[in-house]
Amino acid sequence: MQDRVSFLKELTEAFGPPGLEDDVAAIMRRRLDGFCEIDRDNIGSFIASKKGTADTPRLMVAGHMDEVGWMVTDIDANGFLRIRPLGGWWTHVMLGQRVKVRTRKGDFLGVIGSKPPHLLKPDERKAVQEWTAIFVDLGSAEGFDVEKETGVRRGDFVVPHAPFETMANPNLHVVKAWDNRVGCGLAADLLCELKGQDHPNAVFGVATVQEEIGLRGAGTAADKVKPDVAIAVDVGLALDTPGSTGQDRNPEKFGGGASILLLEGRAVAHPRLARFVMNVADDEKIPYHVTSIEGGSTDSARFQITGSGIASMAICVPSRYIHSHSSIIDQRDYQAALDLLVAVAKRLDTNALREIVG
Ligand SMILES: [Zn+2]
Repeated sequence: MQDRVSFLKELTEAFGPPGLEDDVAAIMRRRLDGFCEIDRDNIGSFIASKKGTADTPRLMVAGHMDEVGWMVTDIDANGFLRIRPLGGWWTHVMLGQRVKVRTRKGDFLGVIGSKPPHLLKPDERKAVQEWTAIFVDLGSAEGFDVEKETGVRRGDFVVPHAPFETMANPNLHVVKAWDNRVGCGLAADLLCELKGQDHPNAVFGVATVQEEIGLRGAGTAADKVKPDVAIAVDVGLALDTPGSTGQDRNPEKFGGGASILLLEGRAVAHPRLARFVMNVADDEKIPYHVTSIEGGSTDSARFQITGSGIASMAICVPSRYIHSHSSIIDQRDYQAALDLLVAVAKRLDTNALREIVG
């Protein structure tokens, strides 16, 4: 089996904006084919399952495949592209960055245009760039017809271009799209870890679509799997950089372990499920933080209200600079989150489920 770092490199570098996640699903399938049953929902969410010694409880662990990106909404007479966001972007982090545009002729390198400081007026220096001023340069120049040469059309998808690199600290990897290929990686690696092992349940490793535009695949995937317990795996927000630390005594930080998210924008973690997971972490001496976020939600918020309700929560991996070209995680935290998921999968039997859902 492909080693973990090269699997995560392939996952994060894949092209997968909301609505066009097939490349990511193909990578998941290659990792899990042969020892898992593979299925999809009708809008593309990927579902791999492995039965242990019992058919129930049904435990679903899910990351979302989509990354924040853009769609081409117009092309001007000189071949410059206008784009609109798919997911949350702060235009500050976009200027001057490289992107990939997928057209009917292939993937093409583009650059998000920015003015050099020499040309900025004093008020422009202070302002955040408006969307109406943002454009992608796909190589426009005299004698090169961008539309003809690249085949670009309105409706084409665009994602950041930012190859995977390891930093001087060998535990830290920087690339686009840790949000949320880290969750896809964990859902797949959980099943890899359970290969050839007993567990008192059926485990579903799921990769959902369209989280960044409204937790959409979470509903369809959970409806298809009908789990008893659902855990969203996603990025957390590392608060260990200048200007980020809030009032918390133990803020989320690199090397601190998995993050157990108890409160998010649109949901609270199922309290008895969260208690069960924290007890497992304590018993197994797996490091973790307990966290909350004010804005934004994970797929867990949608799982909870799918069907007649699903006991749900989110386990996260602290991450720096998400929704930019250069997000970073610490692989020790990935390992802690994976260890926790494996321990939960080995312990979630019918008795545990009865205590959780009552
Ligand atoms: Zn996100």
